Amino acid sequence: MFTLGIDVGSTTSKCIILKDGKTLVAKSLVVAGTGTHGPESAFNEVLEKAKIHYEDIAYTVVTGYGRQTYKKANENKSELSCHAKGVAATTPDARTIIDIGGQDAKVIYLDDKGMINNFIMNDKCAAGTGRFLDVMSSILHVDIKDFGDYAIKSEVPSKISSTCTVFAESEVISQLSKGVEIDDLIAGICQSVATRTATLAKRGRIKSKIYMSGGVALNQGVRKALGSELKEEVYYVENAQYMGAWGAAVIAYEKISQWCWLI
Ligand code: ADP
Repeated sequence: MFTLGIDVGSTTSKCIILKDGKTLVAKSLVVAGTGTHGPESAFNEVLEKAKIHYEDIAYTVVTGYGRQTYKKANENKSELSCHAKGVAATTPDARTIIDIGGQDAKVIYLDDKGMINNFIMNDKCAAGTGRFLDVMSSILHVDIKDFGDYAIKSEVPSKISSTCTVFAESEVISQLSKGVEIDDLIAGICQSVATRTATLAKRGRIKSKIYMSGGVALNQGVRKALGSELKEEVYYVENAQYMGAWGAAVIAYEKISQWCWLI
């Protein structure tokens, strides 16, 4: 049985098709989020890759920032539920999930069965999210994909003291004009996101192992800085950016299996 999970994010649309709630059949990612062609393009692409039609999908769950307005799914579920479900299904030893996406950051504390114990979110301020990194990437003309490679080369990360994205932007431009090395600037930017996230995470009870999910997990500069802040290794979930969509596909499978059982 095939189920489809769709994550209509603030910057990126992701789809996952699973067979029997476990085996990955196909995935798609389009860098265009809610309110754009992104969700439709990701939807068409994943069906094409899986070589199946929408009629072959037993149930579809949508999650993400744009989930309320997406019409093609059977139901929508919160990002917290889907991320937790996706990580617990793929990474059973995860007890703390740090999910940083394009618009928010969440820390989810799991119990030993992979159920949500508690969570803490920052969805009010761009600093400490992918948005902060994306703004800096465009100022520096460095692709966000390369941020991690630059950051880990730095021996002396520069200090970004502004707590607001707009002021931090001016600070980075000023440091750039003073000739600060690009590696050090990017490491400082990653450090700034890590410091904010660690402060958020420490408000709850962190248990090992800690895993990062969401698009910012791909940035090894943030991962490394977060590990130093939390004084323990921060691991990377495979398919990190797809965890919301993955969890949505698992939830879709659980829903349909429950109905089959009732019949
Ligand atoms: P959303 O679901 O809100 O769209 P995502 O979880 O998809 O968010 O994460 C998007 C963020 O991930 C972007 O803002 C960007 O900073 C970061 N990102 C995306 N791709 C990469 C990459 N290849 N390397 C590093 N960071 C990335």
